[in-house]
Amino acid sequence: MFKKVLIANRGEIAVRVMRACRELGVGTTAVYSEADRRAFFALYADEAHFLGPAPARESYLNVEKIIAIAKLAGVDAIHPGYGFLSENAEFARACEAEGIAFIGPTSGIISAMGSKIRAREIMAGAGVPVVPGTGAISDPVKAAAAAREIGYPVLIKASAGGGGIGMRVVEDTHELLQAIEQSQSTAQSAFGEPTVYIEKYVRHPRHIEFQVFGDQYGNIIHLFERECSIQRRHQKVIEESPSPVMTPQMREEMADAAIRAARAVNYVNSGTVEFIYSEGKFYFLEMNTRLQVEHTVTEVITGVDLVKLQIRVAAGEPLGMRQDEIRQTGWAMECRVCAEDPLANFTPTPGVIRGYRSPGGIGVRVDSGVHMGYPIPPYYDSMISKLVVYGQDRREVIERTRRALFEYVILGVTTNLPFLKAVVENGDFQSGEYSTHFIEEHPDLLADVARIHGERSLGGIFAALRNNQSIAAITGAISAYLRDDQKQKV
Ligand code: ADP
Ligand code: ADP
Ligand code: MG
Repeated sequence: MFKKVLIANRGEIAVRVMRACRELGVGTTAVYSEADRRAFFALYADEAHFLGPAPARESYLNVEKIIAIAKLAGVDAIHPGYGFLSENAEFARACEAEGIAFIGPTSGIISAMGSKIRAREIMAGAGVPVVPGTGAISDPVKAAAAAREIGYPVLIKASAGGGGIGMRVVEDTHELLQAIEQSQSTAQSAFGEPTVYIEKYVRHPRHIEFQVFGDQYGNIIHLFERECSIQRRHQKVIEESPSPVMTPQMREEMADAAIRAARAVNYVNSGTVEFIYSEGKFYFLEMNTRLQVEHTVTEVITGVDLVKLQIRVAAGEPLGMRQDEIRQTGWAMECRVCAEDPLANFTPTPGVIRGYRSPGGIGVRVDSGVHMGYPIPPYYDSMISKLVVYGQDRREVIERTRRALFEYVILGVTTNLPFLKAVVENGDFQSGEYSTHFIEEHPDLLADVARIHGERSLGGIFAALRNNQSIAAITGAISAYLRDDQKQKV
């Protein structure tokens, strides 16, 4: 086993990885930017090294600096978390070259799956159904012919894409050329690579993905599906497992395709095969070669600690479990708590957290990177905390999630908490009948948010804080706020 692991990330995921290390008796090294001097993850680590200025380019994306710190600190391995360098083949290669274990797949696998075009070719070759589409677009005349053949609407996508960036829906030929040019320019600036391709735009799909895991001895397993259709701007907000639409037969077919996908690239470590699902049919979307934000729901229903498994497998241990030993028990749901304003098109709302209390009780797990007094920096992703709820069935999980969201207190910054409440209280969400368009098709959710904002007496808490009143006065104001919230529910 490793002696010391460097975590090349920040926030809740850095804490998540360090917790796994602590349980394994492995030492931890944090790296932090100027904006994260007082962040919890930097304090939690056994040792922390300053990385550089706040902008990610100069800190969390600085490969040379991170490798230099890893050598200086004498770590055996680096965990990249998600986002940042987690799917950067150059970074994985740099680790390999320095004899530092990269806790993830090999650079070869990352680079093959990092190109969506190449991934689609490999998967089609392995007999995995892919969304009808093209290879790289170069000639506009050929592109128009291909789009006509696929049939409108089509989606222009960046081959190097991620985070929902650079996608454009095109309804007919007139819009095609301009959309291609726009996507190319977005792709160039976001990913440093302008290549785009065309996919059939599936009208009312669901996003269903499978967690896969491989070790260095050719064993590959899956840990069932995650339903991730509740999205804003093509980014996930609420995820659950199992999927409300899954049947045992469909699960078997999709799991089989996911395993075939992983085998096609001799997959090692944690990975996710994403599918788009519509009317009983499913197609390969992409493979994420890293730990996923929503890995938590899989952990909760299978009882497998995916991060510990990642570390063990990277250290050369075998998976140590057979497919038939992995069971899906109960139901799990994750809400991404973000510092963002749902009423202002979900724009991020950085600022200082003046009051913080996370929920607890049976079936509740909170993975968080923040605390009272913490200034949420404007430089990184707006997600600050994940609420993961477990229950016997979906109904219990929804009731428990409502209860846990009610207990959440985050003061001083606007968050999406009221929005999350509105979603879990929505009838269509509760029925399980939803697609990736759920949020845009339910403007009533925003009306609910406005109502929740309006009815609450937050004023008292802010007044107590502004006037530097005693802790008792502030706590009193918070209790009053909670009581109001309760009244509104009854
Ligand atoms: P997941 O499938 O795990 O939900 P996401 O696509 O939401 O993955 O990305 C995970 C994290 O990485 C998020 O914090 C997201 O903002 C960030 N991220 C992923 N890809 C990019 C990218 N290309 N540019 C910027 N941020 C990204
Ligand atoms: P990213 O790398 O940005 O995560 P994905 O290919 O995984 O890109 O797509 C992100 C989301 O965009 C999907 O979850 C889905 O909501 C939507 N999407 C992607 N491709 C299609 C498609 N062909 N038809 C309809 N929606 C799509
Ligand atoms: Mg994706």
